[in-house]
Amino acid sequence: MAVLIDGKAISSEIKEELKQEVAELKAQGITPCLAVILVGDDSASAIYVRNKKRACEYIGIESRSYELPKETTEQELEKLVRELNEDETVDGILVQLPLPEQIDEEKITGMISPKKDVDGFLPESIGALCIGSEGFRSCTPAGVLELIKRSGYTIEGKECVVVGRSNHVGKPMALLLLEQNGTVTIVHSRTKNLSEITRRADILVVAVGNPKLIQADDVKEGAVVIDVGMNRDENGKLCGDVDFEHVKEKAEAITPVPGGVGPMTIAMLMNNCVEAARKKRRE
Ligand code: NAP
Repeated sequence: MAVLIDGKAISSEIKEELKQEVAELKAQGITPCLAVILVGDDSASAIYVRNKKRACEYIGIESRSYELPKETTEQELEKLVRELNEDETVDGILVQLPLPEQIDEEKITGMISPKKDVDGFLPESIGALCIGSEGFRSCTPAGVLELIKRSGYTIEGKECVVVGRSNHVGKPMALLLLEQNGTVTIVHSRTKNLSEITRRADILVVAVGNPKLIQADDVKEGAVVIDVGMNRDENGKLCGDVDFEHVKEKAEAITPVPGGVGPMTIAMLMNNCVEAARKKRRE
């Protein structure tokens, strides 16, 4: 029976560390500030934004909220992002997705200054990760890395398989594991022998969006299994991409859904905001 990797506990540990660090920054006259833009009335987005604001409040990060009506034009949003880019008191800018259809998401998110890209989504941030230079790391994959490390598992020399190749999760995940000297393979929807490859993994990270895609037969005995997926099963219950009940009998360690990767994403967003403020101190 696998060890449960507790994302709630590990994310709380990170938030406590950040809280301490923010208190120290404040003592030096630096208050990290996150600007959060929400356009429209999508209820899931409103919940995500509320959770991010709560985390900011807990840690001591100032959160500035811009809640705009769904009729907001692209030009209005461009103007706001430009102003926030120039505002020296703002360390991070987060545009909650999805945006209403009249607005080009890629154009708006692409306008955020790389210095304030706390989501780590910009080509500049991904490029920095690719060549191993300083930059914001995408929050969900960075959270997965922390889960693995803080649970005491080493990555160096391990066979790592990432299922999924999205720009926000799969690709940066593979790059982060590579940076840690893992031997990394990415599999995706066109992979022919998926199970054969996933069964080689010492560390298996699954980010697909397909309930229970990964079964016990797809997993090596003793693997560390990280489930990024967030889906609803046939009964409307939250579930991951991994068949938790069966895989837990075979794995060495596994993340649950909920309570695994989810809480880590916000913790790493907070870490990126503090990182932006840390940089200010170094400048
Ligand atoms: P995405 O952009 O839809 O990408 C899914 C990836 O999975 C694609 O690369 C796709 O391959 C691959 N895929 C789809 N079906 C497959 C199959 N049958 N076998 C192998 N690979 C397959 O999704 P995402 O944004 O990466 O998110 C993935 C999951 O993670 C979702 O459930 C999402 O809700 C969850 N998520 C959770 C958090 C969190 O904080 N917990 C954060 C982000 C995402 P192709 O490229 O070939 O199409």
